Amino acid sequence: MSEVQSVQWFPGHMAKTRRKIGEDLKLVDIVAEILDSRIPQSSSNPVLQEIIRSKPRLAVFNKSDLADPKETDRWIAFYRSQKIPAVAVDCKTGKGVPNFYRTVQERLGAQLSIWKEKGMVGRPIRIMVLGIPNVGKSSLINRMIGGKAGKAEVQDRPGVTRQNRWFTIGKGFELLDTPGVLWPKFEDPLVGEHLAFTGAVKDEILDLEGLSFRLVELLMELYPQAVDQRYKIEVPKEPVPPGYEILEQIGRKRGMLLSKGEIDLERAAAMLLDEFRSGKLGRITLEQAPQKK
Ligand code: GDP
Repeated sequence: MSEVQSVQWFPGHMAKTRRKIGEDLKLVDIVAEILDSRIPQSSSNPVLQEIIRSKPRLAVFNKSDLADPKETDRWIAFYRSQKIPAVAVDCKTGKGVPNFYRTVQERLGAQLSIWKEKGMVGRPIRIMVLGIPNVGKSSLINRMIGGKAGKAEVQDRPGVTRQNRWFTIGKGFELLDTPGVLWPKFEDPLVGEHLAFTGAVKDEILDLEGLSFRLVELLMELYPQAVDQRYKIEVPKEPVPPGYEILEQIGRKRGMLLSKGEIDLERAAAMLLDEFRSGKLGRITLEQAPQKK
């Protein structure tokens, strides 16, 4: 894990990012935190609330096409119970994006009434997108500016000295063109692992075999039928054998053999990770929403 940690974030970097986001916050009305629906907990930033203070926020559960819809619904209900509006989107197809706009308007309802009373008709709602690397910030921004509603018009705003630019995205919204890149909470090794499962951490720095053993164990715990169906193997459920044994079975089934009949675990590992990440194992959520009391 310490390897992973040192790649992207170090205290100086975090402080700088935090400062930049703090400055940008002054320019916007609302922040949208983008999460990966497969790992809503690990893809959220632990100090977001501290950074954005009283600025209105909403949570966007992206990559919902890859996640278990029942679990996404539970997560959304959980966020709403915490008074944080939340929506599921899929930036691959644009599903949920109209709902995103609606939710922003609802969240800012009181503010919009004030603007209206003050005669600020046509005052656009300014949005900033935030999130850890790889959750789909650019994809969402592209969706918004590229969709039918949007005009990919970029303007420099007078009075803003830094290079912030705005996209006018139609329907009364403006989007800050540079997303805020947040850091994940690397203190917890499980978080690093879940980020690695989803491909949010560069593979070159990872032990892919070890990672795939742990992934297959977790899948056997949460979605055993998905593994059985995809690879046509029969894995005992109690107790579940260690990950390497399951991966050996998978490798054997797929004919991934080395010269002396040994299983090519490296290939099997790469395949499992790839198939999980691309959704070939079905729609899977690795982290469950906290139970409501
Ligand atoms: P960023 O680092 O947060 O800006 O993330 P990107 O927008 O670059 O997306 C990271 C990867 O996730 C890319 O390969 C995208 O194609 C993919 N991606 C983004 N949104 C979705 C989505 O809703 N569904 C799926 N399946 N993939 C997505």
